[in-house]
Amino acid sequence: MTYKSKFGFGCMRLPQTDAEDPTKIDQELFNEMVDLYMEHGFNYFDTSYAYHNGVSEVALRKAVVERYPRESYKICDKMPTWALTSKEDNEKFVNEMLERLGIDYFDVFFVHNINTPWYKLAENADSFEYVKNMKEKGIAKKIGFSFHDHAELLEEVLDKYADIIDIVQIQLNYLDWEDPVIESRKCYELCVKHGLDVYVMEPLKGGLLVNAPDNIKKEFNEFSPNKSIASFALRFAASLDNVKMVLSGMNQMDHLIDNINTFENFEVLSDEENEFLKKMAEKLDESVAVACSECGYCIDACPEMIPIPEYFTLYNISKNRPEEDIYKLYFDKLADEKVPADECTYCGTCLEHCTQQIDIPEVLEKVCENFETGFSPYAGSP
Ligand code: SF4
Ligand code: SF4
Repeated sequence: MTYKSKFGFGCMRLPQTDAEDPTKIDQELFNEMVDLYMEHGFNYFDTSYAYHNGVSEVALRKAVVERYPRESYKICDKMPTWALTSKEDNEKFVNEMLERLGIDYFDVFFVHNINTPWYKLAENADSFEYVKNMKEKGIAKKIGFSFHDHAELLEEVLDKYADIIDIVQIQLNYLDWEDPVIESRKCYELCVKHGLDVYVMEPLKGGLLVNAPDNIKKEFNEFSPNKSIASFALRFAASLDNVKMVLSGMNQMDHLIDNINTFENFEVLSDEENEFLKKMAEKLDESVAVACSECGYCIDACPEMIPIPEYFTLYNISKNRPEEDIYKLYFDKLADEKVPADECTYCGTCLEHCTQQIDIPEVLEKVCENFETGFSPYAGSP
């Protein structure tokens, strides 16, 4: 395996023609991006039943399956664990996914988003056994699960299932490496202990690492003027031996070009660079009010339809760039045009959907306090 083969195309954040509607994919731009990615010898695409409300799989069929020979690319898809209500659901979803994609086997298949509540759903539906059978029948070449919870739960799942799976997909980046909630390092080490391949999601933490405050961007620029922040983040993940795939969700051509350059001219992270990233992680940690990765899973879960990640983005901006006209955005664009943050009823439905384990209702309360009391943008970290 070369470092080049570690660059995967994440299809959770595809280019859109309407920023407000995740089902409106810019198919023309996506096709062009796929062509460039394939031309440069890359071939791995990661999607799920849920991405873009089910449209990611269809867009992938149009961009890849209908335009390239089957053996020239690899597709990973994922079971919607949160929607499993019976053993029969496994087959129902798998058939639907194969149909949406227009293929008859998956190169990689995961039980999606294992966390404490959804692990129970997967267990009740016997999904790991079902996925094992998929591999035996050749419907999936490699199998595993994606994971969003503490290392303690990962240990429990691996003790039970490490023998039947090939891969674990975890969130791993230099900010979360020692984070007490995400525990990237501990999760990675558990996978290594069990001899499993690690696939990495959120290497840029949903863009949070690259959209750093100006002082951090300046330090990166001074440290290495010709390297992008994204390239450091991707190299941090891909330099680890057991990491066999690093996914990047790209919705702009220049992001793809930068990432191609990173992997075609791959340099393993030096000790000096590692130390530098550790320092940047500490600074970033101090400057982020809420570590939302903007995955959007909570939005559909919220019965009040509160645009949660948009509020969290503004909250973060208020901490680092209070000079920006964020109060207008808060009151006019979000509270008036969409749903006010104080309409949260504390029902808690969003909690099990949050990939970053954020106490969403508690932080929404802080967001309200922050903006409603006028000028107190430094309300403190959640
Ligand atoms: S707790 Fe609040 S934000 Fe979460 S789902 Fe309920 S109403 Fe929505
Ligand atoms: S609050 Fe959690 S679920 Fe919602 S977008 Fe942010 S990280 Fe994702």
